[in-house]
Amino acid sequence: MATDDTVVIAASLASLRTPKVETFDTRALQQLDSAHFLHPFTDHAALRDKGARVIVRGQGVYLWDSDGHQIIDGMSGLWCVNAGYGRTSISEAVYRQMETLPFYNSFFNTTNVPAVRLAAELVALAPPQFSHVFFTGSGSEANDTVVRMVRRYWDILGQPERQVIISRRNAYHGSTMAGASLGGMPGMHAQGGLPIPGIRHIGQPNYLEAGQGMSENAFGLVAAGWLEEEILAVGPDKVAAFIGEPVQGAGGVVIPPATYWPEVQRICDKYDILLIADEVICGFGRLGTWFGCELMGFKPDLISFAKGVTSGYVPLGGVLIGKRVAHALLEKGGDFNHGFTYSGHPVACAAALENLRILVDERLVEKVALDTGPHLKAAFNELATHPLVGHAESCGMVAGLNLVRVKGASMHECVPFERALQVGMLCRGHMFELGVIMRAVGDRMIVAPPLVMTRAEIDEMAARIWDCLDLTLEDVRSRGWL
Ligand SMILES: *Cc1c(COP(=O)(O)O)cnc(C)c1O
Repeated sequence: MATDDTVVIAASLASLRTPKVETFDTRALQQLDSAHFLHPFTDHAALRDKGARVIVRGQGVYLWDSDGHQIIDGMSGLWCVNAGYGRTSISEAVYRQMETLPFYNSFFNTTNVPAVRLAAELVALAPPQFSHVFFTGSGSEANDTVVRMVRRYWDILGQPERQVIISRRNAYHGSTMAGASLGGMPGMHAQGGLPIPGIRHIGQPNYLEAGQGMSENAFGLVAAGWLEEEILAVGPDKVAAFIGEPVQGAGGVVIPPATYWPEVQRICDKYDILLIADEVICGFGRLGTWFGCELMGFKPDLISFAKGVTSGYVPLGGVLIGKRVAHALLEKGGDFNHGFTYSGHPVACAAALENLRILVDERLVEKVALDTGPHLKAAFNELATHPLVGHAESCGMVAGLNLVRVKGASMHECVPFERALQVGMLCRGHMFELGVIMRAVGDRMIVAPPLVMTRAEIDEMAARIWDCLDLTLEDVRSRGWL
């Protein structure tokens, strides 16, 4: 019977895979999109005139739009398609799980096979201090869970006055009430009455912005020191936790100096404060280690994850729980009154299991560390010789470069463009036209390519970026901004 099922499944999957010659009426889709689809983080008045680009297909590191243009995806969708597009084994795992058990909850003393297996697999891949996993549907829900979990932890320990969570300006921790509050994006705080009470923000370890006149390592200690200052200002007995991304993603690929995280760890230990790594981007190989905290040299008590855990094929997030917190919650806490309908969703967990198998079997994390990560660094160092680029930096499979008006001998001696000119957006426009996706954060252009991107594909991406830089330089000259 199992054999029959397998045959039927294989046959129906084959029919799904038969390439269809499908054509699209782009203008009609754009009009429907504009009429009914409210997009995240989008100025719809501006989008209406241009029309959204309709993405219809993906394979490997490439996407195609509804007009048949091929695009090299330098952003892994949105920092998530680590295993690349078109992974049939993930779609098959999802299909099989949907046929077997599309859903069951894990609230009422029940569990399901993919969730159990995935929890065990994640704990095996995580640093040794982790023993448990709480599943959510997204990174934002993971960080909401973190807020409730750390406050609950201190309740259980008889210190309920420990409520304050310290985060950083320009951090991104999601878009729910707690996620956006933990995040340090002023534009988000300006809408909806945020942040929620008990969240404080300190400066980010951005050497370019705040490290002038110091060595990088000296600056790392200074930036970590802002945490101690804030702890003392709030009162150490009121601080519950510190949260940060090992490398800030949406804030513009801010790579901290090597001294930063070990000093943050020392300060958290000194005041007995929980340390939380938001690994939604850095987790699952992005930096050439399974988790970013391993590269940055610290040992968090909790890790929030999402994105790369399923390579984005199906939504899934969660919180890895270290033994310190797990012990309190499981042994002393009774009910933790928190959970989502889709916590441990069997289909999402099946997708994650197959995605992790791919990362392990294809040795993608090691590849990033030893092969493609260094190659991306070399490619960005080459891009840094372009007259429009002040400096470039990278870490594993994330990289950024700064567009400047005047190049200097060091990054602090470069002269930036006036922000209002939006040179980054100008550059991003060319990227779109020339078929490479790169993101603009102010005048910093960033990439986070799929971990499967080969050396040859990195070279192709870099060549397209160089051409876009040339076009941007022409624009800037013709407008008299140089
Ligand atoms: C994307 C992201 C989140 C939010 O995840 P969602 O799945 O969009 O809710 C949280 N933290 C970081 C670091 C992220 O990059």
